Amino acid sequence: MKALVKYAPGEGHLDVMEVAEPHCGDDQVKIEIAFCGVCGTDLHILHDTFRNYPPVILGHECSGTVVEVGRSVRDVRPGERVTVLGATAVTCGRCVHCASGYFIFCRSRRGIGHGVNGAFTRYLVARPDQLYRIPDAFSLEEAALSEPFAAAVQAVCEIAQVQRGETALVPGPGPIGLLCLKLLVAEGVRTIVAGAPGDRERLAAARRFGAAEIVDVGQRDLSEAARDFTDGAGIDVAFECAGHPDSVRACLGALRPMGRYTQVAICGREIQFPIDQILYKQLTLRGSITYTARTWQRMMDIYAEGRVRLHDLVSTTLPISEWRRAFDLCANKNALKVLLYPI
Ligand SMILES: [Zn+2]
Ligand SMILES: [Zn+2]
Repeated sequence: MKALVKYAPGEGHLDVMEVAEPHCGDDQVKIEIAFCGVCGTDLHILHDTFRNYPPVILGHECSGTVVEVGRSVRDVRPGERVTVLGATAVTCGRCVHCASGYFIFCRSRRGIGHGVNGAFTRYLVARPDQLYRIPDAFSLEEAALSEPFAAAVQAVCEIAQVQRGETALVPGPGPIGLLCLKLLVAEGVRTIVAGAPGDRERLAAARRFGAAEIVDVGQRDLSEAARDFTDGAGIDVAFECAGHPDSVRACLGALRPMGRYTQVAICGREIQFPIDQILYKQLTLRGSITYTARTWQRMMDIYAEGRVRLHDLVSTTLPISEWRRAFDLCANKNALKVLLYPI
């Protein structure tokens, strides 16, 4: 089968090549991949700025159909449409983090698409506990957004625990910011989405997805917009999805006394901000990185309730052979979510 492989350490060293089809073990399930989303992490692996273990097939945001089930697997059947919690591919299962469900902090962890073979190919094998059935109403394209959506579910519902009637600020209208927005709208939270001049299309999408207000920070001061939006009271909760120093400072400035700040994006550098704002406004600052299996179950409940649909976030689908174009679209912010499909 053809796969997009990081074949050696270092910058670049990524290409489509022929690899062996994976064998489905007795306790495993084999999935035919339908779609797999391109993520910022994939660009980091291309440039070797995210840890990776070559040779490894990239891709960690996938959907597909079960085609084979190992002999000892009971509750999964061929033909079922699934999405995959690939981040738990390898964990120790014994440490305090594995025991508490926060497997992401397990020191032995390796996820699909960087640590073990991922889903930019035709077949993937996984354990049954990594699979989540897709509701009938969901397309396989839409279901491929589950992995990033789970990250938004953790940030919005579990870390910030937003309440109906609150106000939110989301700088950074990339896929994660827009997924947070969709959830905030579904939860009844009035939301400002902010972006840079280059984000025009993404800000237009934010407007379509129900943002109460969009702000192009090249044209309007974000703190002022947040003040006007809340009649001077300040924002209840901020989700920093841009990873930009100005955005971090704007969020801290826009929050009301006792507001909640959630760091969702990676900044990738040290930044300066007025720490006294945390004191004087008694702010709560938290980070949100990925999700737990409980988050995935909560996401499935949200799907089942029909409160959030994700299909309109997919802007482009391309065959794996066109991965360069797909990666460029993501790097240049010229797309919402780009999916690849097997060849
Ligand atoms: Zn990702
Ligand atoms: Zn562990």
